[in-house]
Amino acid sequence: MKAKKSLGQNFLQDEGVINSIVKIIHPQVAEKIIEIGPGQGAITQYLQASGANLQLIELDTDLIPLLQQQFGQCDNVVIHHMDALKLKLEEGPYKVVGNLPYNISSPLLINMLYQFKQIKQMVFMLQKEVVQRICAEPGQKLFGRLSVMMQHRFDCSSHLDIPPTAFIPEPKVDSQIVQLIPKEKPTEVPLKNLELLVKQAFAMRRKTIRNNLKKIITDEQLQQAGIDPGQRPETINVSQYEQLAIMFKQDAD
Ligand code: SAM
Repeated sequence: MKAKKSLGQNFLQDEGVINSIVKIIHPQVAEKIIEIGPGQGAITQYLQASGANLQLIELDTDLIPLLQQQFGQCDNVVIHHMDALKLKLEEGPYKVVGNLPYNISSPLLINMLYQFKQIKQMVFMLQKEVVQRICAEPGQKLFGRLSVMMQHRFDCSSHLDIPPTAFIPEPKVDSQIVQLIPKEKPTEVPLKNLELLVKQAFAMRRKTIRNNLKKIITDEQLQQAGIDPGQRPETINVSQYEQLAIMFKQDAD
């Protein structure tokens, strides 16, 4: 079957890489796992064999009959022909995993973040740069909106460097695996407030935080959070952004 670029189809062919992902997912009998974009079943076959309770979310109409043929008879597999961006998680907790289509990775991560209560682990293969953004620390060039949002709720770690040769067809970029585990004691902040705040904070990376937030946060509030108003947005840590999002609450509600 010809891979569809529009659906971000790069099928895994390297058994070593597939085994490494499955090892990180660590599937267990009867646990609830959702795989996004199973494709031709490269990872799915191992998840199915583990005895996990598996739900597959695939958008490509042409792949559905193939998946039905491979997994339709398995009691522990349910196949959903749908867009993962519309996924609503109920009755978790779930492990949510997949070699994600790179074109939807950021909106999908944010969609999952809003459903964090239903999630016990996420393991995704992504473009290396996106994994680096998620895991970046304050002061690093890639520290930005995605870092703050994901690190607010999850402990984030990067694993493996995967070259283009692990896929057919070969993508133009390197890939990595990211593991996201819900934090035991996250700071309680309305996510919408944090999302609006960081969007504004990183609107112009070269500007100071004072300039980027001047319509919604005062200098006094910045100082209250231990921030010098002359700092650049990428030098402010996640906990400081959380404090600002709490202050900004009334305006955002
Ligand atoms: N898991 C397979 C593998 O590792 O070989 C395929 C991975 S491929 C990078 C991404 C898969 O996601 C494709 O099967 C593609 O059709 C599917 N896909 C793309 N957009 C999707 C969406 N919005 N919702 C669900 N699946 C999607």
